[in-house]
Amino acid sequence: MAIQRTFSIIKPDATKRNLTGAIVAKFEAAGLRVVASKRIQMTLAQAETFYGVHSERPFFGELCEFMISEPIVVQVLEGEDAIAKNREVMGATNPADAAEGTIRKDFALSIGENSVHGSDAPETAAEEIAFFFSGLELVG
Ligand code: ATP
Ligand code: MG
Repeated sequence: MAIQRTFSIIKPDATKRNLTGAIVAKFEAAGLRVVASKRIQMTLAQAETFYGVHSERPFFGELCEFMISEPIVVQVLEGEDAIAKNREVMGATNPADAAEGTIRKDFALSIGENSVHGSDAPETAAEEIAFFFSGLELVG
């Protein structure tokens, strides 16, 4: 498997509890390098666009309100098999199902307030990176 890039968000529940460094440490320990990072606060329109794939789900409104409730940290992670590795380090969506040592097992509060987002495929990784970062912010 080649070197890949993936997109990651440290969500409001985690930034609020000052867990940014602890979460980044888990990515770095797993061999993922932070190649771009910034702290932002999304507008409702941005959150609705970003999570558009979930617009028909019952939790869509709650999810978007949560994602704009506090600043988030958006990042690009790079490494061998980065998309799958990131999701492995994140753990299952519901922290009750997450494996020991994963970010969600250690830090998530609930299935909604689950501390991190990670892209699920090469196409979504490319789209999500381009949604938040310009070419000038991405070192080759
Ligand atoms: P993410 O896309 O954030 O990396 P994921 O791929 O593990 O997480 P998805 O099924 O894509 O999970 O859901 C997107 C996000 O929507 C979840 O991370 C969570 O914050 C929220 N979510 C998912 N299911 C529920 C639910 N049943 N109730 C409330 N929020 C939910
Ligand atoms: Mg998802």
